[in-house]
Amino acid sequence: MQTTTKGLIIREQTVGESDRLVVALTSEFGLVKAFVRRAKAAKSKSIGATSLLAYSELTLYRGKDAYVIDRAVPIEIFFHLRDNIEVLSLAQYFAQLAGELAGEEEPAGDMLRLILNSFHLLCRGDKNIDLIKAALELRILCLGGYMPNLIACEECGTYLSEKMYFDTDGGSLICSSCPRPQNAVAVPQGVVEAMRYICLCDIGKVFSFKLSEENIKILSSVCERFLLSCCKCRFTTLEFYKGLK
Ligand SMILES: [Zn+2]
Repeated sequence: MQTTTKGLIIREQTVGESDRLVVALTSEFGLVKAFVRRAKAAKSKSIGATSLLAYSELTLYRGKDAYVIDRAVPIEIFFHLRDNIEVLSLAQYFAQLAGELAGEEEPAGDMLRLILNSFHLLCRGDKNIDLIKAALELRILCLGGYMPNLIACEECGTYLSEKMYFDTDGGSLICSSCPRPQNAVAVPQGVVEAMRYICLCDIGKVFSFKLSEENIKILSSVCERFLLSCCKCRFTTLEFYKGLK
């Protein structure tokens, strides 16, 4: 039986001499592993539509071990991601994050929308790249089941004090009067408010906030540390991105 869905290609690898195995992030089915038969792809001009970071309409049928892409029509190739190596490597990191945090056969509409929106912003190039990275990391963690507790101080329930601390291991806030764990990072009010916004706002507005350069740096460091503490795996794409800086 054939099915048609829209998907973002987040991983690709060559298998044997002629086929490629891709992983697509789709709204209805989450992560979908699918083969692209080279002969068929050449004939149907679907190579571009199934290349890494392309967003395409995919017609799939279930093969023996995985899906097979019968037809792929590009919707958005995000050509401008390739203008700048820093932007491209960040987009690849976002794709790797989706591969870690989405599931197979679990709808992932919000995650797909989040990543597509980030790609549009990266292509446009007028938004602070660290802000995009931090906001994506924090919200994709929420979508992947790692929502931090940002409501109030974990110990005493204070909503906001002049200085609060974020425990990047436990994912919670601690006020300045309560004892705090070793890994807690000082976060100014503006950063606490930005983190609350990122976690709770409409998925289409995750990147629509402003923060001073100094606070973007703090937000960026806190979100990355929290992400690495939650995921506990190596992100080669993140290492590459940081190596460029
Ligand atoms: Zn407290």
